[in-house]
Parts: sequence; C-alpha cells; structure tokens
Amino acid sequence: MAAYFLTPIYTSSKIGQLISERIKGPLVAAFRSPLMKTLDRSVEMEPATGFAVIPYKQGVTEPIKRILNSHNVKVAQKPFQTLGHIFAKPKDPVTKEQRTDAIYSIPCNDCDNEYIGQTKRQFGTRLKEHQKAVFLGKKENSALSEHTCLTNHTIGWDNSKIITTNRRYHQRLRLEAWHINSAHAPLNRDDGGLLPDAYLHLVRKKGR
Ligand SMILES: [Zn+2]
Repeated sequence: MAAYFLTPIYTSSKIGQLISERIKGPLVAAFRSPLMKTLDRSVEMEPATGFAVIPYKQGVTEPIKRILNSHNVKVAQKPFQTLGHIFAKPKDPVTKEQRTDAIYSIPCNDCDNEYIGQTKRQFGTRLKEHQKAVFLGKKENSALSEHTCLTNHTIGWDNSKIITTNRRYHQRLRLEAWHINSAHAPLNRDDGGLLPDAYLHLVRKKGR
C-alpha cells in the first residue's frame, strides 16, 4: 500500500480512488495509518472541478448525478420544466378603477382643464362620486360640476388617470398639492395650502 503514497505520478484524487478500491470493509479500515487518514481528508476536501445544473427527471437524474459526482462535478437539480411553467397564466392586471391610495387626474373633454384629486379608497369608487356630482349639477361641492355648469363642457372620464400612488395620507396630500401646482390648468379651487413657498417656487420654475 505504501507504494501508492510514495509514487509521485499519482494525484491526490487518483490516490483517493485507489484507496477506495483497495480499502474496503471494516477489517482493512482498522489498519489505516494516520498518513492515509490525512490523505483521505485531503481527497474529501478537494474543491469541485465543475458545477452542473440539471433538470430533475425521476430515474434519469440520479445516475447522471452519480457519474458527474465521481468526476468531482457538483450537481444541483432544478424542477423539470413543463409547457405549463413556461406559459404560466398571468394574473389579471389591476385596473385603474381598482387601484387605491391614488393621486389622480380627471380631464375636461373640451379644454385643457383637469381636476387633480387623491383618495385612499379604490379610484373607481371616487370616480363614481365625481360623476354623480356632475350628473346632479352640484356646483357647491364639486369643481368638476361647477366647470360643466359654467361652460357646458363634458368631462373626459375615460381619460382619467392615476398619476401616482402613496399609502401615507399626509404624503398623498402633499403629492396632490404638488400636482395641482404643476398642472397647466387645474380646476381645483385650492391646493390645501400644504406646500411651503420654497416648494411652490420650484414647481412654478419647473412648469415654465
Ligand atoms: Zn373644459
């Protein structure tokens, strides 16, 4: 046995192979020298020379994995891919009416005016409230209704859009104020007075 360890042409993996071929069974193992044990450890700790990712297929993957492992190639398995995986059914996209925490814009069909608003609820729910106010001609509580009553313009409900969303109430109010001040022709009666003068100066500078 000692000849194997003294022969320089053998690499550590070759020695390991020879050890595993020659040393089998508990009787032989009992006679292992400290040098052999050290060599065994070095064989075990030898870094992998390669890495392969193969799909798992019962009865096929295991033999391939064993062969690759015997050549010191580490193997990782991944689930076998089916057409169902590739063409996974996409989730239905969320419509703008279903979105919440929105800062939104509702434009006029007949001029550049637009209304900027914000809501925590679903945008569709808030949109219906605006539509009802316009339908009933409630000028007092609705800038949109006031606009249609004064001009006979119609509102572009279908062209309404979500500008952005924010779940924090105070941030939403400030974003709404920012967009009211950024808008070319806002219908809003006021911006809530939430933006400091320095910000308003910036918004107007940006708008020019
Ligand atoms: Zn208009």
